[in-house]
Amino acid sequence: MIWQAVLWLTLAQLVAGSFLLPGDVSPTHYDLRVGYDLDPTTNFSFYGVVSIVLSANKPTTKVILHAKDFNITSEAVSLSGGDQDPPKVLSASINDTYDFLTITLDKMLQSDVNYTLTIPFYGNLKPGLDGVYISSYTNKVTKIKEYLVTTQFEAISARKGFPCFDEPMYKATFKITLGHNKQFTAVSNMPQSSRGENNVMEKYWPWKVIRQRFQKDLSDFVWDEFDKSVPMSTYLVAFVISKFSHVESPSDLSTTKFRIWARSDAIDQTAYAANIGPRVLTHFEKFFNVSFPLPKQDMIAIPDFSAGAMENWGLITYRETALLYDKDQSSFVNKERVAEVIAHELAHQWFGNLVTMKWWSDLWLNEGFATFVASIGVNAVEPTWHADRSYAVENILSIMNLDALESSHPVSVPIDDPKRISEIFDQISYRKGSTLIRMMTMFLGEDVFRKAIHNYLIKYSYQNAEQDDLWRELTRVSRANGGLSRNVTVKEVMDTWTTRTGYPLLTVTRDYVDKSLTITQKRYLSLGARMPTTSSWWVPLRVLCEDDSRSATPLQWLADNEGVEAPHRFQHDAKPDQWVLFNFDMVAPYRVNYDKKNWKLLADTLNSDRYTSVPVLGRVQLLSDAFALAWTNRLDYSIPLLLTSYLRRETDVLPLTTGLGALAKIENVLIRSPDYGAFQKYVRRLISSTYERAGGLAAKKIIDGDNLNSVKLQVMTSQWACRMKVPGCEENAIQLYQQWMDTSDPDKENPIPLDLRRTVYCVALRRGSVRHWRFALARMQRTNVAAARDMLLSALACTRELWILNQYLEWAITEGSEVRRQDAATVIVSITRSAIGYYVAKDFIYTRIAEIHKTFRGQAIRLGAIIKTLLDQFTTQRELDEFTSWREKNAAYLSEVKLSVQQAVERATVNIAWVSKHRQSLVTLMRENSAEPETPVISRWNGQPNFMLSIFAIHNISSVTPSRHA
Ligand SMILES: [Zn+2]
Repeated sequence: MIWQAVLWLTLAQLVAGSFLLPGDVSPTHYDLRVGYDLDPTTNFSFYGVVSIVLSANKPTTKVILHAKDFNITSEAVSLSGGDQDPPKVLSASINDTYDFLTITLDKMLQSDVNYTLTIPFYGNLKPGLDGVYISSYTNKVTKIKEYLVTTQFEAISARKGFPCFDEPMYKATFKITLGHNKQFTAVSNMPQSSRGENNVMEKYWPWKVIRQRFQKDLSDFVWDEFDKSVPMSTYLVAFVISKFSHVESPSDLSTTKFRIWARSDAIDQTAYAANIGPRVLTHFEKFFNVSFPLPKQDMIAIPDFSAGAMENWGLITYRETALLYDKDQSSFVNKERVAEVIAHELAHQWFGNLVTMKWWSDLWLNEGFATFVASIGVNAVEPTWHADRSYAVENILSIMNLDALESSHPVSVPIDDPKRISEIFDQISYRKGSTLIRMMTMFLGEDVFRKAIHNYLIKYSYQNAEQDDLWRELTRVSRANGGLSRNVTVKEVMDTWTTRTGYPLLTVTRDYVDKSLTITQKRYLSLGARMPTTSSWWVPLRVLCEDDSRSATPLQWLADNEGVEAPHRFQHDAKPDQWVLFNFDMVAPYRVNYDKKNWKLLADTLNSDRYTSVPVLGRVQLLSDAFALAWTNRLDYSIPLLLTSYLRRETDVLPLTTGLGALAKIENVLIRSPDYGAFQKYVRRLISSTYERAGGLAAKKIIDGDNLNSVKLQVMTSQWACRMKVPGCEENAIQLYQQWMDTSDPDKENPIPLDLRRTVYCVALRRGSVRHWRFALARMQRTNVAAARDMLLSALACTRELWILNQYLEWAITEGSEVRRQDAATVIVSITRSAIGYYVAKDFIYTRIAEIHKTFRGQAIRLGAIIKTLLDQFTTQRELDEFTSWREKNAAYLSEVKLSVQQAVERATVNIAWVSKHRQSLVTLMRENSAEPETPVISRWNGQPNFMLSIFAIHNISSVTPSRHA
């Protein structure tokens, strides 16, 4: 019955392609003219007209493009060009499902003829954080409330700004003219070319028509025209109309004119960005050997901003905390964040802007590259921070849990509904993408990588590319330089990593007699996984043996058909009493399990003065693997606890963060259980002495403020010490806070050391009264520094007063309240994450989902983060059952976050399984270890010295704050 098969195929194609533009017509140029009235009393009205030069790829009577959230009068749409008698417009109608604007013509468009489609439109700007939207602030000097117009078009919101072909593959040039009230300034992707006083839309929108809504004279307005852009995708178009000030970077730092814009009362916080921005840009030009193609680069801090920043070509927009730095009020971590985000966005000017993915499925090409290359940019301007190493660790570790879920997704992800694109701006696209690109640089070598990237950027300049195009360039240059071992191509290797979900677990079993070992590979899945998995990977292997003195064996491959059916055998040089260590440089995301003897050999070395013979990233990998393997029943908990004991010697923040991060995962499932006291006691014993050594809160100052490692150690130990009730810690915090309350002008004087403020505030508000909370709120209302505001915003969620928590949640979904739209998710997530707030937030989410959903319209990823945070804390079946029945009744509100909900449910299931399997035995083990400090840590392992275990911890701030940059 062959016809049926054909019919099915056709149906499948129709369904699969229906959300995409048909591709019959392509735009080459947009002439966009829009006039905005920045006046709340006339409802922020606007009038615009866009003329799109386009040509048909085949004869058609329909032009389909995108439009949303404004009005179009069908009769006003027109077409010109071609022969003497171009097709006439019969109708123009918008279909809301996929925002299609369909223009129907009375006859066919001819191929290879340039037509101009002109569409006048009008409307009012709405509150929101995407499309063209209104942001506001109160000038701290004049006390006047000011407004600005700004844009956020990625991923699919350019269609809210003007009618356009809003898919990344439709690149075109743009000529933009903006009309606005005289006292404002406009900036856009390109430099301003002229300013005029005449209504540039008079032919389509006579002033007498506009005047009816603006209620102002033409003489109140000016019209700024900008140069024609290079060819680019619609999501990169941007403009801002504001009363901001700007500073210009010193011209010796870059050949590109570089300006930083901010509220005029915050312009003094732009110095750091003005210094490092042009230096990073210059470094990238050298690194890629490709010049920045635009004559200028503006960077601007927007008071209301959904993501962290947006890489609009030539006009990068930022959340204030990601661009502004105040040396008296921003912490070291804030500064690090500013540098990282600036480098990330500037990297996009090449990866994303110059060469763009064809469709959002390959978003990872944009985000993975920018995330990886950011570390190169930061390294160039702040070499003492070792950003390459710390970003690598952060990126790999942050995806390992998510990617172990059955409901994770491949890096290159099919998208069947544009409304769900927002959801893939996630850790997998950013951090796994970045990890895989770092992996390539390591197995190809930096020279090959840089040469191939240069070729790729040149070949696909102003065009679109897919991952296969990149693999081809890399393989070509690699072959010219001798190629990869085993003659494998980049595509063969990378397809196993980018098109398959998850990552492998390698199980290494040594033969201690003949110096061989066997390896098997299998997808690493979390507890309770049900699907059988047949996935396998091309795994890069590098092995270190105990006496190699760090000259590891050259890179070898475990092919994707090896170690799957039968163990794969390798030879090595280690003696029977020496360990072997895989992935000591974390070249790729995978976990490694060993036979017991090898684990013990590794643990012995870690617990000795020779612990640095295991490289730093190897120490990170061991701690992370041991805890994860124990969590999933693959290793006894005695091993990770034994490894943890070495942390008393550790002075590098990365392994300490890893070890305590793993304990935080256990804390999360114990925090509301009767066993939490035992957990606290165990960790308290681990960290007390180190807390004191690092300076803690008792020092009342930052011990070594120029050393990022030292600052992070002091902050991390302080956070853990107070949470674990180390004597004196909370008292010191409360004392410091009281000193602040006692100052005569707390908005100017703050005796709490900058980097410790986040910790101190939270303790003081957790332990304090309403009076303490109100004091913090007042400071938040008055500060002019976004970073200072952010610290207080999170701290306000630390209170245990139920009515205040309820009030705070209420503010998060109330327009015009103390909580800005951009911060609403942070507030809800922070409260949900706290031990007491969890109960309040759960109730709030269940009963107010309609309003929450409305608050996060167009920001599905934020709603997803809230649901994930809630379910991540479930430890009982009853909680999950309650959620399941609630979800059924509220499915409509969760349709854009299906993937997040699926992942959240799986995480909760894993937690529940862990509690029934491990809680009792682990708590018993912890009790034994904290009750008898004089006996060896793990008694059955002879010869282990007993140490007062001392480790440090970091409370993972990045996971509390849902915002990542776009
Ligand atoms: Zn990005």
